[in-house]
This record gives sequence, C-alpha cells and structure tokens, in this order.
Amino acid sequence: MYSKLIFPELSYVGVGAINNLYNEVQKLGVSKIIVITEKNLVDLGICSKALESISSYTIEIYTDIVPEPPLSTAEKLVEHIRNGKFELVIGVGGGSALDLAKLGAVLAGNDGEVKDYLNLTGTKTIQYKGLPKVMIPTTAGTGSEVTDISVLSLEGTKDVVSHPYLLSDVAIVDPLLTMSVPPKITAATGIDALTHAIEAYISVNANDITDGVAIKAVELVGQSLVTAFSNGGNEKAREQMCTASYMAGLAFYNAGVGGVHALAYPLGNRFKLPHGESNAVLLPYVMHYIREGCQEKLTDIFLKLSPKAQPIESKEQMSKRCVATLFNLNKQLNLPTSLKEYGIEKKHISLLTDDAVKQTRLLARSPVELKWDAIYEIYSAAYEGSLL
Ligand code: NAD
Repeated sequence: MYSKLIFPELSYVGVGAINNLYNEVQKLGVSKIIVITEKNLVDLGICSKALESISSYTIEIYTDIVPEPPLSTAEKLVEHIRNGKFELVIGVGGGSALDLAKLGAVLAGNDGEVKDYLNLTGTKTIQYKGLPKVMIPTTAGTGSEVTDISVLSLEGTKDVVSHPYLLSDVAIVDPLLTMSVPPKITAATGIDALTHAIEAYISVNANDITDGVAIKAVELVGQSLVTAFSNGGNEKAREQMCTASYMAGLAFYNAGVGGVHALAYPLGNRFKLPHGESNAVLLPYVMHYIREGCQEKLTDIFLKLSPKAQPIESKEQMSKRCVATLFNLNKQLNLPTSLKEYGIEKKHISLLTDDAVKQTRLLARSPVELKWDAIYEIYSAAYEGSLL
C-alpha cells in the first residue's frame, strides 16, 4: 500500500530565512505586490521587518482583516485582489492572515464567490492556480504556510476551502519574526502545533513518513514550548517552535487532524475562543476518551514530552500519563483547563455537539469512532474540567 504525500515546493526555515525574500520575489519577475497582514503587525514593526528587503517594489499593505476571519472578510479581500491587478500575494502574520492571503491569491484567478468553494456546502472546484504566493508566518502554530487549506469562521462552526493550489509557492519561516508573540498567544499557538502533531500521529491516515515528522514535532514542542512561553526572548526555543509548527503542518496536511479539531471548531465559532485555545482545552479530554484505541502511540508521545521518564510501565499506564501530561502542560502555560472557565454553560453542550458531529471530514481520521454520544461525553468532561 503506497502513501500520497504532498510537500510545499520551496521553504526556508530557521533564523535568517527572511533574507531569501528578495531573491524569491526577483525570480518571480513581478512588479505589483499585495501584502495581506494585520494592523497589529504593522504597528509592531513586524511587517516592515519582514518586507525590508523588497521595499523598492510597489507594495500595497492590506490590513482589512481580523483574526479567525469570517466569510465576509474573505469575500471582500478576493474582490479587492481581483480588481487590483496584482501579480504576487504575500501573507505576513499568523494563520488568520496567511489563510486569507492563500485564498485571495488562488480565488483571484477563479470565478464565483468564496462560499462556492467551501468544503461542507460549496458547489465549485478550484480550476486555476491564481497568483503566485509567498507565506511568512509570524506565529508558531498553525502550519498554514505548508498546508493546502484556508479556514474560515461561519455561523455555528468553521469550514475550509481546500485545494493543492492553496499551497505556498514559497514558505519563509523565520523565528526572529515570532519573538514578539505575547505569552498567551505563544501558549495557545504552541498547543495548536502540538495538537496537529498528535492528531496526525494517531490519525487513521498516518504512515511511516508522517509519523516521523509528527513525532519529531512533538519532541521539539516538549523541549521548547514552556521556555518560549516564559522567556519569549529565547531564540533557540522560538526556532524550535517554528520548526515544530512547520513539521506538524507537514504531518497533518498529509495525515489529517481529527476529533480535537472537530470539537474545537464550534468553540471557536460560537464562543470566540482563539483556535489554539479551543484545541488546547479539548486536547486532554479527547485523548482520554480515545486512549484505549491508540495506547502505543500515546506512549510514544508521552516519552517524547517527558524525556526523563523511563519506559518501564505498561502501555496502558504510560498512555494515561500522556493524557495527564497534556492536562498539566495547559496548567503550566496558564491556559484554561475547563469549558466553564470560558463562560460556557452545561445547556450549551448539546448545541456544541450538534455542530461538531457535522465535521465528518475530521471525525473520519479519529482512531476511535466519535458519534454524537461520545462527543457529548467529551464536551461534558471538558466542561467539568474532570478527566474521570
Ligand atoms: P492569528 O493569526 O489569529 O493571530 C493571533 C494574534 O496574534 C493576532 O492578534 C495577531 O495580531 C497576533 N500576532 C501574530 N504574530 C505576532 C507577532 N509576531 N507578535 C505579536 N503578535 C502577533 O493566530 P494563529 O493561531 O496563528 O491563526 C489562527 C487561524 O489560523 C484560525 O483562523 C485558524 O482556524 C487557522 N488555522 C489554519 C490552519 C491551516 O492549515 N491553514 C491550521 C490551523 C489553524
């Protein structure tokens, strides 16, 4: 049985990677560029730092975007890029900016509205590659620079536009652009990367290649996330987190994510939890529920996250320790460990479950089947903050 693997065409990853931007833009032979970013990143000077080498080009900086972007933001952006006769799209930012930049670049070359291309309800398939695109992440979490999806917030849930054309032509991952990420966002985006790696590793679609990439990403997160959170100026920790996020992106793009993401999307949408936080609060509870279906892999994850641990216990015991480690990691990172802490009430659990069960694309990757009752049980445990 063979595996189909898709990796981005060209990536630069590590300190100094941004120095390749000028050459890459020059190679493309373009003159009119649009940069999709957030006002916050312009104000912080991150955007100008990223674009310093191409300041002689004609560049429009487009900042009319918001985190966890809704469909309307994407529709407006696509219209703007179509009308602007741009030749290159550059995304500078976290997953929100990069997802919009990728989508804008591709749909500028296709007809119709963004909603026509949504995974759950759309009717059209992307036909053309659109404009070339360079993605420059400024958070270490989503891996958007290496995936072929753009995530949008919709009424009640999230959905994606997905097509291999959404892959970056060039991904430039420079940890020096992430040094200013505040601790709370470092924590949430870091657990997002960890969730990608774990869900890819236990996915029913995992293979030896995605496993190798995913488990290394877990190891790097184990070595660096707490340091990056408590000492954001630590360059090595930031670099390891960027590498982890990139690798976790490669792993989940090819093997898929599962139950944690399916249950997280409704939290993001109905209760406006940032994507990383909604994954973080659910990760231990979903792993607890499915633990018996993936004991060996959770044991591997435990040993990578806790390198001092000796593999002397049974896989059952070590997989339980894995769940506890994930729970404690959230505590260490000052992230909420229950849905109650977000003001979510017991009466909301049915509604959340109704939303999550629609995420069939994601639920299909879970190593243990997650139907309505199971999802309800997981949300209930997460609501109480109890792993029992
Ligand atoms: P984000 O892009 O929403 O950014 C969060 C906050 O961090 C923003 O306020 C932003 O201004 C700030 N920020 C970003 N970089 C900074 C820096 N260097 N210094 C200081 N502040 C900085 O957060 P995210 O978690 O990176 O992205 C979340 C989005 O990505 C969600 O919409 C999610 O659904 C999507 N996502 C996409 C993929 C994919 O494969 N395409 C995967 C996972 C998540």
